[in-house]
Amino acid sequence: MTTRRKFIQVGALASLASFTKAWGKPTSKVSKPVVISTWNFGVGANAEAWKILANNGRALDAVEAGARVPEGDPKESSVGLGGLPDRDGRVTLDSCIMDEFANCGAVACLEHIVHPVSVARKVMEKTPHVFLVGEGALKFALEQGFKKEKLLTKESEKAWKEWLKTSQYKPVANIENHDTIGIVALDAKQNLSGACTTSGMAYKMHGRVGDSPIIGAALFVDNEIGAATSTGVGEEVIRIVGSHLVVELMRQGNSPQQACELAVARIVKNQPQKSREIQVGFLALNKNGEFGAFALQKGFTYAVYSNEVPNKIFEAKSYY
Ligand code: ASP
Repeated sequence: MTTRRKFIQVGALASLASFTKAWGKPTSKVSKPVVISTWNFGVGANAEAWKILANNGRALDAVEAGARVPEGDPKESSVGLGGLPDRDGRVTLDSCIMDEFANCGAVACLEHIVHPVSVARKVMEKTPHVFLVGEGALKFALEQGFKKEKLLTKESEKAWKEWLKTSQYKPVANIENHDTIGIVALDAKQNLSGACTTSGMAYKMHGRVGDSPIIGAALFVDNEIGAATSTGVGEEVIRIVGSHLVVELMRQGNSPQQACELAVARIVKNQPQKSREIQVGFLALNKNGEFGAFALQKGFTYAVYSNEVPNKIFEAKSYY
């Protein structure tokens, strides 16, 4: 009799075999410390994170410092200051952070604060909670000494006014109307941490929260196994609790590369038609410094910084 457990194992192996055949990219391995992050803006984030990692610093401090770089850059239109607004013209930010002890903190729909990742860290360290949203998150941030700032830049306001002419909500794969920095690191003490921060999908409904601040969706860290993060249309990542799935697939013995491929395949299985039109990408890093990446569509880039790979951009393989 095939037990349920056996059935699951066979199913996983069968799907794995077809994916490794289809894309066949072996998981890459580097020595610790290492930091990897999503998209080309990962280079600036990694450079800042590396300053901490190269000095024997903690992965948690490194990922926070890294995430703050695109957050503070007004030219990045999908993260922090200068992020494209929702359809009401309001810039609302989502972010989370997680450390090697499974401590985590998150904020969603936070307005007026340039560095939501640092507010998320304060939620983790200074409150009995994990997640603060909207007005409550802003009130907490101000109490913690963060300054209220205008996040809508001239450029993002202009883009929003242009969008208002048609008011059509359409996420475009790999175009700057969305994208998130997800950053995961393994430090010299072999501890893992991760962070994720975004202004979300441009012209979303006011109050919409994506995957980026949701622990398990856009970020998950298990210090015994590995860490994963995601970018792309958050609704699809939430539906499969993507980053947690990737880490659990690694726990079952899959390499980071295989785990990312299987998570993307799960989205395709759920949404065969829709998955052709949208982008979702996963990054994974395990406890041994092996990393992998995979996306629905071509064009998902990520940056790696280690002693062997001095901050290089790679393009992930894709399902389509
Ligand atoms: N995941 C983000 C969101 O859904 C956007 C992105 O990474 O492209 O808000």
